[in-house]
Formats: sequence, C-alpha cells, structure tokens
Amino acid sequence: MDLKNYDDLLDEAYNKIPENVKQSSRFEIPNVKLRYEGKNTYITNFNKIIDTLNRSRKHFIGIFLKNVGTMGEIRGNQLFLKSRFKHTVLDRLIKEYAKEYILCNVCNKPDTRITKEGRKQVLKCTACGARTEIKEK
Ligand SMILES: [Zn+2]
Repeated sequence: MDLKNYDDLLDEAYNKIPENVKQSSRFEIPNVKLRYEGKNTYITNFNKIIDTLNRSRKHFIGIFLKNVGTMGEIRGNQLFLKSRFKHTVLDRLIKEYAKEYILCNVCNKPDTRITKEGRKQVLKCTACGARTEIKEK
C-alpha cells in the first residue's frame, strides 16, 4: 500500500468525524501516581485526576473510598489512603467511577451532570440528551 495515500485516507476519515466526538475521545483519566509511606498510600496526582473527572471532590471521594474499602482523606494536593494499594486496583476503581457517574451510557461522552429527580439520581448528558438513572450499590 502506498503509505502517503493511507495517511490521506486516515485524514479524510478523521475529518468526517463530528467535532464533538473528537473532543470526547480526549477524555483520558491520568493513571494514579502513588507514594507509599509506611503501610499507607498517597495518590500524589489526585488534583489532576479530579480535574479530569470534573466532579466534586466530595462526591468522588465518598464513592471511591467505599469501593476501595478503606479510610482516607485529602491531605494538601494528595489523597491519603489507609493501607497499601496497587496502581492497577486504584486505576480500575477510578475508571469504574467514571463509567458509572460521568460517561453517558448512550453516547459515551463525559459531558454530563448529575441531578436529583425526587429520590433518584440521574445522569444527564448535555451532548445527546440521554438520561440514565444512577443505581446506588
Ligand atoms: Zn450522551
């Protein structure tokens, strides 16, 4: 295959993707950076992660700590976790949070808000208008 033509084809395909889809593909949660102190763990890039998630710290921490199954708190720019945790475990739990509370179930974009409707929590997507009830575990 002629390499130049292939690049042209890729460009062409990319240009056909609507602008808002291109943007959502930029939603990438940074992997946790960890520092261990004794038997405890600090997520040192916690601010960066929470900025990407675009949710309140309180909401994220409440759910995250429950899923990690430990106690923790914000200390400066870092999130302190009681006990030692592996990168892979924490990264997976953050991705699960994003899937549940950020990414739209229909179009998979992160342009969503959590609203309350009566006693239900609903994830509303500002990109496609979908509304999904959030099931509390
Ligand atoms: Zn959507």
